[in-house]
Amino acid sequence: MEPKQKTIRGTLTLEGIGLHTGKAVKITLKPAEENAGILFRRVDLPSSLDIKADFANIVVNKNIPRCTSLGKNGVMIHTVEHLMAVLSGLEIDNLLVEINEEELPGLDGSSVDFLTAIKKVGIQEQKALRSFFAVREPIWVEDRGSSVSIVPADDLKISYLLDYEHPFLDSQFFDVRLNPDSFEKQVAMCRTFCLEDEADELKSKGLGKGANFQNTLVVGKKGVKENRLRFDNEFARHKVLDLIGDLYLLGRPLKGHIVAVKSGHHLNFELLKKIASQKEKYEAKPVSFPTNPIAKTELDISAIMKLLPHRYPFLFVDRIIEIEKGQRAVGLKNVTFNELFFQGHFPSRPVMPGVLMIEAMAQVGGVAVLAEGQNEGKVPIFMSVNNVKFRKIVSPGDQLVIEAVVLKKKSRMAQIHGEAKVQDQVVVEADMMFSYGDATVAST
Ligand code: ZN
Repeated sequence: MEPKQKTIRGTLTLEGIGLHTGKAVKITLKPAEENAGILFRRVDLPSSLDIKADFANIVVNKNIPRCTSLGKNGVMIHTVEHLMAVLSGLEIDNLLVEINEEELPGLDGSSVDFLTAIKKVGIQEQKALRSFFAVREPIWVEDRGSSVSIVPADDLKISYLLDYEHPFLDSQFFDVRLNPDSFEKQVAMCRTFCLEDEADELKSKGLGKGANFQNTLVVGKKGVKENRLRFDNEFARHKVLDLIGDLYLLGRPLKGHIVAVKSGHHLNFELLKKIASQKEKYEAKPVSFPTNPIAKTELDISAIMKLLPHRYPFLFVDRIIEIEKGQRAVGLKNVTFNELFFQGHFPSRPVMPGVLMIEAMAQVGGVAVLAEGQNEGKVPIFMSVNNVKFRKIVSPGDQLVIEAVVLKKKSRMAQIHGEAKVQDQVVVEADMMFSYGDATVAST
């Protein structure tokens, strides 16, 4: 059974100090409706602006560089990743987070206090189903020796390799298949960290104001300062925690196997952007058929084949939806990957040949002319094509809506203006002239 969306059962409050700003802060978590998503609301500001936990709201803030910040209209929320990781881990879809400062509390530097508080208040299943995005094609981003990739998988799995040029913190690996249990037991309690040299540098820049040896693992040459590790590879595990939090900014639960080498927030965002654009590509609204739902079929394919001598693979009209005999016709051509010409034009980048679009327009024009009783059975032959403009490429899945208007007509020839559209956008237009004689030579 498809899993359902979840929120929390009641309201809970947490207080603490922002790791970067050092400011005292209080957050209140409240249930939210189905499909609301995760919303942050600054209650210390007069406007009640909600900032959705969505990659579109990620702000890269030079003043606070080592965390994930969301912002909108100049209103900021910093260090959202440790809470986001818990929401992803516990599969919470909908939540309102009220906050009275610009940075979430750092607590013990991990996610465990958020997790404990949420489990205490309880998780509420809702009616709507969760909507996963399963990655369909591998995605890869890299930057100066760091990389992160995702390949299709049945659930969310993360493999992380950390490697510093540091005597105490060389290679570490951690691997997890994410679910509420694995998150709680293996990830949630892993704390943020920095190297001792970095800590000094950050402090000198006025950053890490709320950080101390308890809420941040500070790694010196001989080991962690004034603290003890919860796991030997707690550092790699915290990097996975950050990744889980950052990925949840897709706004949807994700399926795929992430393989990350030394990646941080910046690269995580780059991956997220690419995942989001793949999601858009696969979830683009399908074209409705027919394009004009009230259009009735004036001529079906067998009626068209009585008028036109063309046959597969050279018949480019599937249906005529409007016709004024001798004057005008509107036809549909559904372009599928099974068209013979896509085998060679081009196998890796299928594009409908422009000349075949002209042919399709001529065939619709042919229907308009030949539908007049006295012309039935005649064979249209091209005389000229002028003013051709190709405006957009046509690829598999497109539906061509082709309108042919008869401009001039004599006993054995006609001049036609043709225009073909895909989703209301003109892809090609041309003026065509053809003669029609007896069925000895077929040319259009
Ligand atoms: Zn972190």
